[in-house]
Amino acid sequence: MNIFFISVARLAYRVSPRVLGTTVLFGFGVATVIGAEGATALDQGTTVAGKTEAKAPVKIYIHTDLEGIAGIDSMEMIDRQGKRYRECCELLMADVNAAIDGAFAGGATHVTVLDSHGGGDNFILDLLDKRAEHDTRPNHKWWGTLDNSYQGTYFIGAHPMAGTQNGFLDHTQSSLTWHDYRLNGRNLGELAQWAIVAGNWGVPLLMMSGDEAACAEARNFFSPVETAAVKRAMGRNRAELIDLKEARNRIREAAKRAVSLIGKARPFTPVKPMEIVLEYNRADYCDGMATKPGIERLNARTIRWLTSDPLAILP
Ligand SMILES: [Zn+2]
Repeated sequence: MNIFFISVARLAYRVSPRVLGTTVLFGFGVATVIGAEGATALDQGTTVAGKTEAKAPVKIYIHTDLEGIAGIDSMEMIDRQGKRYRECCELLMADVNAAIDGAFAGGATHVTVLDSHGGGDNFILDLLDKRAEHDTRPNHKWWGTLDNSYQGTYFIGAHPMAGTQNGFLDHTQSSLTWHDYRLNGRNLGELAQWAIVAGNWGVPLLMMSGDEAACAEARNFFSPVETAAVKRAMGRNRAELIDLKEARNRIREAAKRAVSLIGKARPFTPVKPMEIVLEYNRADYCDGMATKPGIERLNARTIRWLTSDPLAILP
C-alpha cells in the first residue's frame, strides 16, 4: 500500500512512472510506487516447473564527482596541479569500488562507471574493480552512454548545490561562474540535474554518497533513495572526515540496498516545458549565452529558457 503526500508547493513537478503506464501529478520526494518492471528484473532467475530461467540483466550506471569523496577535506587536495591530487584519485577509486561491490552484492549484473569531475581523467584505471565497465564517453556528453537499458543510477562523491550552508565545496556546475540555478522555480544542484538527465531514459536515481549536506539534499528531492554520508562540512571549505573504512562500508551497504529500490524509485521528470533560470556571478559570463536563440536575458547576470528536453537543461 502506498501513501502519497502532495504539498501544494511541490505540485510544480510531475513524475511519470513508466511502471504504471500513466502520468500522475506528484511532487518531488513522494514515496513508493510498486512497479512491475524492476521487480520482474530482480525476480527472474527463479525456477518455473523446476527449470532455471536466465536472469534478466540488472544494469546500474554510476556517475562520479570528486568533492564528496571520503577522505577529501580541502579544496587544495583536488587541485590537479597540487601535491595531493594523486591521493584524491586513489580515494575516488576506493569509493567507486565500494559502490561497484555493493551493487553487485545487491544483485546487479552489469555496472558502468563514469569519471565526471572536471570532464574526467581522474580515474586510475588500474585500481578500478575489473567487473565494472568504464564509460569512455565516446559521445563527449555529460551522460556518456547512459540509456534506457539501465535500471538505476548512483551518484558517488556528490557535493551540495550552490548556496548550501555548511555544504562542502557547494556549487552548481561552476563555482566560478554560476550563482544560482532554478528549474520550474526550484533551486537545483547537480544531483537533481543528473537525475533529470537520467529521467530522459526512465532511469531513477537510487543511491548517492557525499557530505551530510549533499545527502540531505538528495533526500529532499528523491524518495526512496539510499544515501551514504562520508563527511560533514564545517563552513564551505573544510570538512570533518569519518574513518575511511567506515565511509566505504557505508557506501557499499547503501549501494547494495539500493538495488532493491528498482521498481520502487521512479525517474525524476519535472513538468514540461521546464522553465530554467540561471543567474551567473557576473554580467560578462552571461553576455555570450544571452545571444543564443531561445535564450531570454532577464537582467545583466540572468538568463531564462524553456525546454521540454531533459538533455537541454544545461546551457
Ligand atoms: Zn566536481
